[in-house]
Amino acid sequence: MDLSTDIQFLPGVGPKRAEILRLELDIHSVEDLLTYYPYKYVDRSRIYYVQEIDANLPYIQLKGKIRNIQKTGTGHAQRLTATFYDKTGTLELIWFKGIRYVEDKLKPEATYIVFGKPALFNGKFNIAHPEIEVATTENQKQALGWQAHYNTSEKMKKHFLNSAAIRKIMYVALQNINGKLPETLPAALIKQYNLMDLHQSIVNIHFPQQTEVLKKAQHRLKFEELFYIQLDILRQSKYREMKYKGFIFSKIDYFFNTFYNTYLPFELTGAQKRVLREIRQDVGSGRQMNRLLQGDVGSGKTLVALLSMLMAVDNGFQACLMAPTEILATQHFQTITEILGEIGLSVALLTGSTKKKERERLHAELESGKLNFLIGTHALIEDNVVFNNLGLVIIDEQHRFGVAQRAKLWNKNDQPPHILVMTATPIPRTLAMTVYGDLEISVIDELPPGRKPIQTYHYYDNKREAMLGFLRKQIDLGRQVYVVYPLIQESEKIDLRNLEEGYEFFKTHLPQYRISMVHGKMKPKEKDDEMRKFVSGETQIMVATTVIEVGVNVPNASVMVIESAERFGLSQLHQLRGRVGRGADQSFCILLSSYKITSETRKRLEIMVRTNDGFEIAEADLQMRGPGDLDGTLQSGIPFELKIANLSQDSHLLSLGRKVAQEILEKDPSLETQENSILRYQLKKKNKNSINWSQIS
Ligand code: ADP
Ligand code: MG
Repeated sequence: MDLSTDIQFLPGVGPKRAEILRLELDIHSVEDLLTYYPYKYVDRSRIYYVQEIDANLPYIQLKGKIRNIQKTGTGHAQRLTATFYDKTGTLELIWFKGIRYVEDKLKPEATYIVFGKPALFNGKFNIAHPEIEVATTENQKQALGWQAHYNTSEKMKKHFLNSAAIRKIMYVALQNINGKLPETLPAALIKQYNLMDLHQSIVNIHFPQQTEVLKKAQHRLKFEELFYIQLDILRQSKYREMKYKGFIFSKIDYFFNTFYNTYLPFELTGAQKRVLREIRQDVGSGRQMNRLLQGDVGSGKTLVALLSMLMAVDNGFQACLMAPTEILATQHFQTITEILGEIGLSVALLTGSTKKKERERLHAELESGKLNFLIGTHALIEDNVVFNNLGLVIIDEQHRFGVAQRAKLWNKNDQPPHILVMTATPIPRTLAMTVYGDLEISVIDELPPGRKPIQTYHYYDNKREAMLGFLRKQIDLGRQVYVVYPLIQESEKIDLRNLEEGYEFFKTHLPQYRISMVHGKMKPKEKDDEMRKFVSGETQIMVATTVIEVGVNVPNASVMVIESAERFGLSQLHQLRGRVGRGADQSFCILLSSYKITSETRKRLEIMVRTNDGFEIAEADLQMRGPGDLDGTLQSGIPFELKIANLSQDSHLLSLGRKVAQEILEKDPSLETQENSILRYQLKKKNKNSINWSQIS
């Protein structure tokens, strides 16, 4: 039996259970099984005496006999109790479910190993639903260590595939495997970093005898996982670097200087200047720039984008700016044409609703080079859009553009343009290294001067009246208000009803003001109309679902009310809050929630009230939720699923993995040497489904 053997041939598995493992856990082969790692371990390293028990103990094991087996109650109230005893005392075992099964198993004369978490009830200790096995030399030997526990689904449990069953199958697999598991890291690397070998690691991750070895096994497997991700990402960017040359923007000239010296309405912040220097260096280097610009909402990314575009024009290149929605693209277009004034550049807007005639004109002007800047939605990267000499592409709010779309951009020219990706979603460093590991990162960590930090409050529902009074005051000062409702995909109907009820609520209670409403089910045209009314100040209140989340700029809006705030994640709350605080006025964010919130939720809302710092919030978010719950698009940016490492806890291993990968690629960029063939093989195996970079030319 080897790693590729189908699990159905493992003794004790068979076709039926194999089918369930396939469906529920995507486990097909012995290898899949052995790389299904436990989520926790419990201490079975020793046997406790009843006398030693106190209420603070975790899961423990006891050894002894059973008497007084009793069944009481009927139906749902039925329960089974038994007295467990060893030479030091007694405690009660209780079962509420599976009674018949347990009853058959319990024999007064046998010695048992009982395993569970003791609790104090009416002054006496008991264990509810203990695991119980007749003591044998076998299980007593196995018991000396930390016991692995595996996640299982309801369906699996129904077919007796609980954690203990998985553990047994794991044991069988390790017993039946021929020889040692083939190593997946180069010997030199294992030696240099003093790693446990693969075979030992797999054995110990499932059946650790001591904490020491368990730690070493975890270290090795986590390192390996993170290392391969980094190796993959870095190899791809190395490959691009070798294959493509970058356009050289050698000079800063008329347009940049004129704009900077006479058009720019304010001084750049220190952070904006620093980032521009970083960009300048990239585009002058001869390498193709692939840079991520992170900056909180309102930090002034658009201006950095524009100044970079001016660098392109000064060197005879066209530039384009791509936004995820039509509204945003239009807004960028307006801002940029306005601020460029009479400088003498030709700028156009291209979106899905650009008329055919206009589109044809645009295409012609793009191809001839008459047009300098093109701003738009991803209509920009459609194949029929041909540039004369595209030198720079800027992608705003990038989380909607994946690696594949970026790849498409490289094909736009004989030589790929420089790429600047801008995002307002602060991403913790570890995550950025993974999701955007192929990009250099710049950060704007400073807001333009004079901004007043947004004041955030958490109100329970009963404070609605007070809130209405506050809204009236703000609107009478000439300000505008957002009210946002959560959106859950599974129940669009309910969402819409919530939204419509909300709309009615504000209409009834604030009849003197005009209200816009926007939600995802509206036709784009209607949505745009409503949006425009709010942008122009025709309406004072905007009632919406999260469709307004991305990038809309209404500096006059000073209040963000978030309904059912308990239903939003931290990052989303932060994004929403960022819609206000864009003008000179003091802005406010009101988080409304019901009384019934978990302590976790309360913590989230408290963080929001405490800080406006997007990076702090992103870190807290990652800590609280773990990367498993990240929004789908970010998640899909992670090249492969993490089986054991945890991006928020294992950042040191991630950095190490990246460093080691860099060192290897430095010496052997194509991984051609004999020593590195194992790396090439593993990457190929892991990458079966992802883009084949060597075919993009
Ligand atoms: P974001 O980073 O969210 O895209 P924007 O580029 O939309 O931010 O900028 C937000 C606002 O700040 C805009 O109105 C912009 O004109 C203004 N702004 C940008 N940079 C500065 C600066 N250095 N000083 C003052 N205001 C600035
Ligand atoms: Mg922006």
